[in-house]
Amino acid sequence: MPDSNEDIPSETNVEEEVLAPYLIEAARSSRSKCRTCKRKIEKDLLRIGILLEGPYGTGYLWHHLNCAARRRFEDVEAAYEQVSWAEGVEVPELAELKKLQEAAEKKKADKQESPWAERAKSGRSKCKNCEEVIEKETWRVILDREVEFFGQSRNTQVNIHPACVAAELASDDCSTEVDGFEEALRENCRGLSEEDFAEILKGIGELY
Ligand SMILES: [Zn+2]
Ligand SMILES: [Zn+2]
Repeated sequence: MPDSNEDIPSETNVEEEVLAPYLIEAARSSRSKCRTCKRKIEKDLLRIGILLEGPYGTGYLWHHLNCAARRRFEDVEAAYEQVSWAEGVEVPELAELKKLQEAAEKKKADKQESPWAERAKSGRSKCKNCEEVIEKETWRVILDREVEFFGQSRNTQVNIHPACVAAELASDDCSTEVDGFEEALRENCRGLSEEDFAEILKGIGELY
């Protein structure tokens, strides 16, 4: 575990004292990294430490307080219930943090789920399958691809030419299912006319 232990309060004797499950404080240095957004936590910004008891020792994993509110509000709520900050530390109202969480949830809900298809708004996007440009106003199909990101795999959406969809679906890192593909595409393209949809399907051709 690289940097999880570096910011344990110096007055804490880890051997004898039991660390609280949470700690909210102003960052003592700019050395810690937020586990949520992976960015540096600047000195004096509020951060929340979530205690991790691992095989290499016990320590806090840090998050920007705002990032934690957006992504793991339960922890922030628990930290507030336990008043996990020292006297004199000024923390925002929990209701303010709750708003951040709600906005993040809404953003997530608004995000279009793949697969879906749309006309390319510009001639700048490239097909991730063949690496060729997708011409402006022509159809592109958006699929999920699994990528490694900081040692974790996650899905990212990629633009694909209709004619390249079959090849992309057959590739190892494509995480859009071939089974039920057409139904899923139809479900997510509800705004399109039957004509448009037929045109897209024609462009995609046979999947098997
Ligand atoms: Zn962050
Ligand atoms: Zn292509």
